[in-house]
Amino acid sequence: MLLKNCRFIVTQNEKREILENRDILIEDKILEIGNNISKKDEVIDCSNKIVIPGLINCHTHIPMNLFRGVSDDKNLQRWLKEEIWPREAKLNEEMVYYGSLLAMGEMLLTGTTCFNDMYFFTENIAKAAKKAKMRCFLGCAMFDFFDSDKTDAEIEKEEKEINKILSLKNEKIKPSVTPHSSETCSDELLVKSSKLAEKYNLPIHIHLSETEKEVNECIKQRGKRPLSLFEDLGLLKNRFVGAHGIYLNEAEIEILNKKKGFIAYNPCSNAKLASGICSAKELKYLCIGTDSVASNNNLNLFEEMKFGVLLQRIKYNVDAMNAERIFDSATINGARALGIEKVVGSIESGKEADLVLIDKDNIFLNPNYNIISNLIYSFNGVVSDVLIGGEFVVRNRKILSFELEKILKKVNSFNFS
Ligand SMILES: [Zn+2]
Repeated sequence: MLLKNCRFIVTQNEKREILENRDILIEDKILEIGNNISKKDEVIDCSNKIVIPGLINCHTHIPMNLFRGVSDDKNLQRWLKEEIWPREAKLNEEMVYYGSLLAMGEMLLTGTTCFNDMYFFTENIAKAAKKAKMRCFLGCAMFDFFDSDKTDAEIEKEEKEINKILSLKNEKIKPSVTPHSSETCSDELLVKSSKLAEKYNLPIHIHLSETEKEVNECIKQRGKRPLSLFEDLGLLKNRFVGAHGIYLNEAEIEILNKKKGFIAYNPCSNAKLASGICSAKELKYLCIGTDSVASNNNLNLFEEMKFGVLLQRIKYNVDAMNAERIFDSATINGARALGIEKVVGSIESGKEADLVLIDKDNIFLNPNYNIISNLIYSFNGVVSDVLIGGEFVVRNRKILSFELEKILKKVNSFNFS
């Protein structure tokens, strides 16, 4: 396939080049980017398109799309106990499958091609990802609540899920190791999680210092802060994605920066639950996530990026964060966090063609003095086309990989009121 005459290509390559009026030749991978490439087969006119790399959402709980709008005005502890856990107890495999497709539809229509998820019913999420043709990392949340009788069962369950996902032999769907947090996991469970990640060479994805209460409890019970605990127990030897990272002190930030530990910054969710503002400015290894729709209330990464910059300015000053840096966090740095920077995250020959096409004439993108500025601060996120692995999954704002109407009907038939 040839994407002919792309008006702008925001490559996110090392030099962060923005190319004008070039062609992109694609199989599943990007074969060539150049001028006047000739090809007789499928040629797509892109003279009115801005092409960007598919966005990467590094912290999600996607089936929770089913809980959109059920509770909007409580802090994390009350929200979980009073609103979320009782509803999660009602979930079944069918609900998770359809809720996941609802989330995937929303991600695709707003230019996200890859996500990093932690939830339950992982097999059903994988089934939905296969249907939607999305790229993802899936982990089944582990917790033993400090009950040593439960630790091994959690690890065994996780290993079983890992093997199930690996047995799909789907290059786009990968497992990850997901101990829930310092609040819910014993030392033994964290050590065994780390060994499991090492055994299969997988990323560790865990909640980290989302609230002050979490940090204080950790100090009280274990004599150290969550990140020091994770470091001591070996978690940072692996690819590490800590979600939130709001309450980190200077020493912890230094550890992350030294050990290449990534923080998935979740600005909307953190603001909505009044959890606080992450010190994203200080972090060398920054990716971005939405968290679940129940605390966001959407998966639109364009909105997340804008919030991400603005909150840093409230916390620090106007120089704290800019559009380029937050765009990196949703593209190439998201790929680095997950260890797939050789596969996706930028538009370069040899990488998979995970590409997002946006209409240059979109009202929010004009006049066009600075594309990145417009994409971060002004764009509403409604993209025109999405390719994953060189295949169209959205064409002219319509999802091709599944029937959205059917999913909407199904999810509206579930009752979580
Ligand atoms: Zn979360």
